[in-house]
Formats: sequence, structure tokens, C-alpha cells
Amino acid sequence: MPKPSSASQSSAQASQHVVVVGAGIIGVNVGLALLKQGYDVTIVDRAEPGMGASFGNAGGIAVTECAPIAMPGVWANVPGWLMDPLGPLSVRWSYLPKMMPWLIRFLAASSKSRVEQIASELAAILNRAWQDYDPVIAETGLSDAVFKKEGAMGVYRSEKTRRDAEYGIDLRRRNGVKIRDLTKDEVMDIEPDLAPIFACGVMEEDWGRVLDPFRIVTGFYKHFLERGGKFQNAEVTDFVYRDGKPSAVITVQGDQITFDKIVIACGAWSKTLAKRLGSSVPLDTERGYNTTVPYNGVRLSRMVICADDSFVLTPMETGIRVGGAVELGGLVAAPNYNRAKALFAKGKEVLPKLSAEGGTEWMGFRPSMPDSKPVISASPKHENVFFAFGHGHLGLTMAATTGLLIADLVSDATAPINMTPYRIDRFQG
Ligand SMILES: Cc1cc2nc3c(=O)[nH]c(=O)nc-3n(C[C@H](O)[C@H](O)[C@H](O)COP(=O)(O)OP(=O)(O)OC[C@H]3O[C@@H](n4cnc5c(N)ncnc54)[C@H](O)[C@@H]3O)c2cc1C
Repeated sequence: MPKPSSASQSSAQASQHVVVVGAGIIGVNVGLALLKQGYDVTIVDRAEPGMGASFGNAGGIAVTECAPIAMPGVWANVPGWLMDPLGPLSVRWSYLPKMMPWLIRFLAASSKSRVEQIASELAAILNRAWQDYDPVIAETGLSDAVFKKEGAMGVYRSEKTRRDAEYGIDLRRRNGVKIRDLTKDEVMDIEPDLAPIFACGVMEEDWGRVLDPFRIVTGFYKHFLERGGKFQNAEVTDFVYRDGKPSAVITVQGDQITFDKIVIACGAWSKTLAKRLGSSVPLDTERGYNTTVPYNGVRLSRMVICADDSFVLTPMETGIRVGGAVELGGLVAAPNYNRAKALFAKGKEVLPKLSAEGGTEWMGFRPSMPDSKPVISASPKHENVFFAFGHGHLGLTMAATTGLLIADLVSDATAPINMTPYRIDRFQG
């Protein structure tokens, strides 16, 4: 029977050691939330904190994005994905057989009834994002690095493409998202440096952005250490079981770190460890690319979402980041930076004064479930095992809420939302 948190519970928790595997934006938020519940927490990562997908993403606090990636009619796009390696969504032929189980579930999730359900389940997390983030941002002293609720502007090249997007916009509005239609002139008034190629736009009022996602994850991590959290630099490969219960991680060097409870938060790499802990999960990766270039006099006051070509422009601390794209190609293949270049060329059509000089390219592995929902779950096999991964395009946005929800699960407290939709075993049976 779940119970609310209490002071006496906290002191009992202080003697419990929780290991969190993964120091991305999710693992660090989970670690912080567990520390606040009174646990003794060690985060373990094979790399320096924040060097995974959390390093170079687009920086959007995208609280309005409750529409899943697989929308009704997505089937019709499959031939294009296979034929155009530089299109907004592409599949690497060599990876196609491995990706098939994920793709079948992805397409199955695109039925209208599933999409309606998924959107409401994503909105249940996204609609809490600011209320859960605000206190963590304030206490970590990162308020200057987060621009709040200035909105993001979606732009459309024709009235037809805006009409084509109507179902998704209506779906989001029905889930509490504020979206205001904009005329061509309003689009240009808001962002005067845009090329005059857009017929209309929308303002997504509640979006925010961070100036540098790496600064956010490392800032949270520093705060985690200051509050007494510990970090160990090691790759986890397996687990030790005592009396049938996982009790220690085994590192690649053969060392062991014992725990009372464990949270797997390894982003796109979580599948193998989940399997070692008895849970098969259809997690894969949507690889994404971007290029960040110095401003060089170009003005951009907020994120711009180029809806027709599926990419975004973000004003960041170091310059303008042009990126997006989905490449289904697994975790091993080398990046194809022609994708970043193709996106940048599209970006230059939108902001003609952009110059590639001095730019840096990046690729990251989004941890993606076929139904676009994260896994925020207790293990169905072991009472001391928990999972926090699969946040896809929205890990930065959902991180603070995920931390709090996992802390509730770990301490057996009542979560503020129904946790069934995010269970790890939702694809079983
Ligand atoms: C191009 C792009 C743009 C994006 N834009 C946005 C955006 O605007 N807004 C948004 O909300 N989200 C965005 N995202 C998604 C977001 O970046 C991810 O959802 C989020 O960073 C995932 O965080 P994570 O902590 O789960 O994973 P990661 O940041 O990848 O961290 C996983 C960590 O686990 C560690 N690890 C893995 N295996 C092991 C092991 N065996 N032992 C020890 N450590 C291990 C890794 O070293 C890594 O540090 C974007 C992603 C991409 C690629």
C-alpha cells in the first residue's frame, strides 16, 4: 500500500543506498529528488556527467509537445524515409532488420485512438513540467540559464501545410496547450530576420528554452554533489544477485558497488541493463543532428519550429543551433554529418544571414520508445529496481518531473499522476 512521505520515513531512507546508473539530465534529476527524500545516493556513469544526449540537444522546454511522433497517417511516409537518407526522418538500410520490431510498434501506435490516449498521457507529465522544474532551477541557481515561457513560434510555408497540421494542433489544444494563430505579418514582426517565405505561423505560448543544455545538466550535477550526492566513474555491465534479489552492480573493471535500490537511467543505452534485470523493452534510438553557429549579427529572439521540414532554430549562449531530424540507425554506426549540413542548408533558407563559419556539428542518441512515452516505472520482477529512460524528444523537458515521480516510486509514496501508462512492461503480452 503506497504511503505519503514523512520525517520518520526520511530517516529510515538515510540508511538506504540508491545507485542511479546514468548521469544525463534524467539520472541527475532522479539523483537530486532521491537525495531530497533522504536517501544516500551514488550516480554511476561511464563518462563525465552530461556527455550523452543531454549534452547538445535543442534546449527546448517543450511543454506543448504532447502529440506523439507516430501520428495518424504516418504509414504513408515510410517509402520516403527509406529512399531519402537526408530527409527529416530516415532509416539506415543496414539497420532496418534490427529496427523492425520497434518500427512495427511505432506504426501500431499511430492509430487515432492510440494517439489520443498517448497525447493525454504525455500531457499528464508535460503539464507539470514548469511547476516541477521551477523550484529545482531556483535552488541550483540556474535561473539565468533558463528562459521561461517566452513561447516558441511554429512557421508554415503555405496555408495548406498549416491546414495539414490542424489535427495535431487541435489534439494539443484539447490537452490544455495554448496555441495562438499568427498571420504572415505577425510572423515577420516577431522575427524580422526570417526570410519572407512563410504564409502563417502559431505561437506556442508556454515553451521555454535553456541557453545551453550542458550547462543545465552540469549545474544540476554540481548541486547534487553539494547536497551530499556521490559520483562514481564506471561502466556498469551486470548485477550481483543475493537470495534472488539484485544487490550490487558489476563494473567493466570487475568492481562491485552494492545498493539497496537501483534506478536505471542510461538513456538510449538502458535496454541491455534492463534485460539483465529481467525486463525486455522495445527501446531504440532516434539519432538527431545539429549545427551551432556564431550569431554574426543574426537576430533570433525565441525558438522557431519549421514545421514543414521538421527542424528547429534555437538562440543559445554560444550561437544559433539549427537541428532536428530523426535517423533510425542504432547506437553503433558513425554519424553522417551530411545530415547536419542538409539541416543547416534548410536553416539558411529560413534565416538567410546565417553563416556556417565557425560552426560545430553534433549528433545525439534520443532514447526512444515506439509510443513516444517514457518508461518511469518500478520493475515488475524486483521490488528494489526502478527504470527512468525512453524520453525521446522530450528528456530535457520531462527531467524534473521524472525525478520526482521516480522518488515517489522508490519511497513507495503516492505519485501525483497515474503511473500505469509509463510502465516498463506495457508492451508485454
Ligand atoms: C538533436 C536532439 C535534439 C533534442 N532536443 C530536445 C529539446 O529541445 N527538448 C527536450 O526536452 N529534449 C530534447 N532532446 C531529447 C533529450 O536530449 C533526451 O531525451 C535526454 O537528453 C535524455 O536524457 P537521459 O539522461 O535519459 O540520457 P543521456 O543524456 O544520453 O544520458 C545517459 C547516460 O548514461 C550513461 N551510460 C549509458 N550506459 C551506461 C552504463 N552501462 N554504465 C554507466 N553509464 C552508462 C551515458 O554515459 C550517459 O551519460 C533532443 C535530443 C536530440 C538528439
